[in-house]
Amino acid sequence: MKNFYLENYGCQMNKADSNSLINSLMQEGFIQTEDYQNADNIIINTCSVRAHAEERVFSKVKLFNAERKKNKKNTKLIIMGCMAQTSKNILENLGVDKIFDVYNETNILDYMKDEEVFIKKFNDNYIFNKSYVDKDKPHKAFLPISHGCNNWCSYCIVPHTRGKMVSRKSSEIIEEVKRLIESGAKEITLLGQNVNSYGLDIENEISFTDLLYLIDKTIDKTVGNNKIWIRFLTSHPKDFDKDLADAIWNLRSVGKHIHLPFQSGSNRILKLMNRKYDKEEYIKKISYLREYADDFPISTDIIVGYADETEEEYKETLDLLKEIGFEDAYLYKYSEREGSIAYKKKVKYDEKVGSERLRELVDFQRVLAQKLLNKQVGKRSEIMIDDTAKDNIHYQCRSKENRLILVKKEKELNMGDIYDCEITEIKNHTLIGEII
Ligand code: SF4
Repeated sequence: MKNFYLENYGCQMNKADSNSLINSLMQEGFIQTEDYQNADNIIINTCSVRAHAEERVFSKVKLFNAERKKNKKNTKLIIMGCMAQTSKNILENLGVDKIFDVYNETNILDYMKDEEVFIKKFNDNYIFNKSYVDKDKPHKAFLPISHGCNNWCSYCIVPHTRGKMVSRKSSEIIEEVKRLIESGAKEITLLGQNVNSYGLDIENEISFTDLLYLIDKTIDKTVGNNKIWIRFLTSHPKDFDKDLADAIWNLRSVGKHIHLPFQSGSNRILKLMNRKYDKEEYIKKISYLREYADDFPISTDIIVGYADETEEEYKETLDLLKEIGFEDAYLYKYSEREGSIAYKKKVKYDEKVGSERLRELVDFQRVLAQKLLNKQVGKRSEIMIDDTAKDNIHYQCRSKENRLILVKKEKELNMGDIYDCEITEIKNHTLIGEII
């Protein structure tokens, strides 16, 4: 029989919620314990009225987390109450398993009884929130098109925390696009853990590539061609194909850039990561885009040091970095994420080796990116005005290829307006251009 330890902070309302939860848990067969070191579940009902109470919760979370690691117990650490809303990110970073930002006893009970059943139930009833333009940059908007992920990459925690992929209906996405355009959005970024597998979970739904065509057509009908730009994140190499590459290149509204994480240049490591593609396939897929433009900008994610990566395997990653020529790369050394498949399988890694490789990779990529950017001087591109630059004498812009370009602030321009620009020089790793 499972037990639970509960700590309550704050007002009478919190006390009432805690008492009600304790009763319901006991009716479900859970036993309350005062011994947190041996608890299966630790629940903290939090309060954010006083800084002191918040500080106590933070230190308790650290203590409970350290204890469960020391005791090697699979204790669930659960947060409810006001801090679940006010300090969600901090608590997540401290290693809390589940935060219930809205008090819902049934959800908490379901989660404690069976996490998998809870996630399934939660996802089956998943409702996408409305999207809004960015508060500080109202020409930008982010639009989630799917939630969760089915890929189970071994190092990743997302499928465990967010559950299986749920796609938003394409009809709803199109309504959202229209609404965002009415609200002033000029650049809409479609979001999903793996946007390329969009729609596969809904019978008779269109594919991601078809969704791009539909959005492009909607933009064309609503405001006219090339007045709104579409970007998307994140793509998965296993689902990226020639049709999608053609759509990216041919559709006027779609940014000419892709973020395609390759993670490792070694096929052994890719297999252990459960990435479901190999190096050769990745290179082939990149060629679909590079056939259109040999400088088609690609950014990526890389993890070094996974599964006792050998020196040779690491060199393969370095070689792939050179061969593809990424303008941007998010580089990481492997670190365990509690709850992931790799964590459960105790995948081996050497932190020191990982740090050394990461340092080398960062230096290597910095030089490579600079060389690639240098080649852009003298070229032309469409840019969108994004912000005033820190120096206050330039506008910060993004090209359609997602390159950061500064242009002189000679007159007042509107954020979100699109211009043609010529790149004239590169200063301190940043491209400088002139509006034509
Ligand atoms: S790394 Fe990305 S694709 Fe892989 S499981 Fe995590 S979210 Fe899904």
